Amino acid sequence: MPALLKLINTTPQLPEDADAVVIGGGIVGVFAAYYLARRGLKVALVEKGRIGAEQSSRNWGWCRQQNRDARELPMATKSLDLWERFAAESGEDTGFRRGGLLYLSNSEEELAGWARWRDFARTVGVTTHMLDSAQATERGRATGKPWKGGVFSPTDGTADPASAAPVVARAILKLGGTVHQSCAARGIETESGRLSGVVTEHGTIRTKTAVLAGGAWASSFCRQLGIRFPQASVRSSILAVSPGAVGLPDALHTAAVSVTRRADGGYTLAISGRGRVDPTPQQLRFSPQFLPMFVKRWRSLAPGGLEGFRSGHETLARWRLDAPTPMERMRILDPAVDKATIRLTHSRALAVLPPLKNTSIAAAWAGYIDSTPDGVPGIGEIAAVPGLILAAGFSGHGFGIGPGAGHLVADIVTGNEPIVDPRPYHPDRFRKSAWGQVADF
Ligand SMILES: Cc1cc2nc3c(=O)[nH]c(=O)nc-3n(C[C@H](O)[C@H](O)[C@H](O)COP(=O)(O)OP(=O)(O)OC[C@H]3O[C@@H](n4cnc5c(N)ncnc54)[C@H](O)[C@@H]3O)c2cc1C
Repeated sequence: MPALLKLINTTPQLPEDADAVVIGGGIVGVFAAYYLARRGLKVALVEKGRIGAEQSSRNWGWCRQQNRDARELPMATKSLDLWERFAAESGEDTGFRRGGLLYLSNSEEELAGWARWRDFARTVGVTTHMLDSAQATERGRATGKPWKGGVFSPTDGTADPASAAPVVARAILKLGGTVHQSCAARGIETESGRLSGVVTEHGTIRTKTAVLAGGAWASSFCRQLGIRFPQASVRSSILAVSPGAVGLPDALHTAAVSVTRRADGGYTLAISGRGRVDPTPQQLRFSPQFLPMFVKRWRSLAPGGLEGFRSGHETLARWRLDAPTPMERMRILDPAVDKATIRLTHSRALAVLPPLKNTSIAAAWAGYIDSTPDGVPGIGEIAAVPGLILAAGFSGHGFGIGPGAGHLVADIVTGNEPIVDPRPYHPDRFRKSAWGQVADF
């Protein structure tokens, strides 16, 4: 069974024109469209499959500041407030709760790393508590084991991946925006070098502004326009178990396994940093730029198979605007689950958290994490095409910072004071090497 997803009805009729068109209905695209609509812009969001059906419903649901790279931390902090404000403003429930995140460890090295991050976080006003052995063992009592130490980040939380993007899309509709599912954007039109329209499979929308929030498809889309956006996909496989386990923390990370309480009372189980790299021509093309990332993170990556070719999201082929594209052939990127990882995750979870023995496997799925060479997203206007704003490459951290990223996109489009300093995210940096720039976590 694939990842659970709330299905919503959207707008059948495509508008002829819009102030802004958002391409991609993941968490980043829906929040960008939401904040644009709140500012009174006429917004159309086009999604080739279903709202939230790719990475944004396939993740753990963690909305964390804990262990964030310094470049992403301000956006993470703002996003936690925005998750809360969204519920109050829209009356929609994303499942967001500030329940805190718990990290437990028996490794002195890991604990020292967390303590260093705590010291840095203090300097920017973020609260996180290191736990000594007694405190960690008490907080981790559901494991029935002693722990050397841990961290508890009380202001962090989780939201519900199955419903978050769909309910934000519903909020866009309430504000008068339009949302179009099964509607791939095939490309753009320009006039005098500036964006003048978005060409979709159902017709062209005239607009001066488009936001490319296409997740793992963004690099292929950019390639059609002659824009080099280095992106690589890592396949991550996780599972959900039924309700039935009692006394577990809402969100727990250990080196062996991580667990997160789901909205239905079940749990998502995963092993952190265990991804498969499925080689594709796009990956080979960008491999020199990803070398610093592979050197730093090789322990958490393993070679995959031919899955990337089947999926078609990293195609090098040029496509026409008047014929079906790979995006219409693959409405929802649903890569094959790595069964060995699922078995290992489940057995580790039962060993670490015995109450999970009262549950059964409800679903297992994989998702392609779209990474950039430095592990920080690309957000900003593309210099070669004025009017085209990139918001992709969230590198496995984008769900929690979706609201902040969407807000920043709206700030860029409307010329408002940016919610955070946009410079660390600007896509121009991809022209330079990522040596020494790869995010720590
Ligand atoms: C297993 C796993 C666990 C994760 N855990 C976490 C976590 O706990 N916390 C966290 O913060 N992040 C997590 N992430 C990362 C997070 O899910 C992503 O960073 C985030 O969802 C990215 O959102 P997005 O909107 O950029 O992309 P997506 O959700 O992938 O959405 C992109 C959308 O664009 C659409 N699209 C693409 N091209 C076109 C086109 N041309 N026309 C129309 N539509 C198009 C796609 O169909 C897709 O729906 C995890 C990811 C995975 C896979």
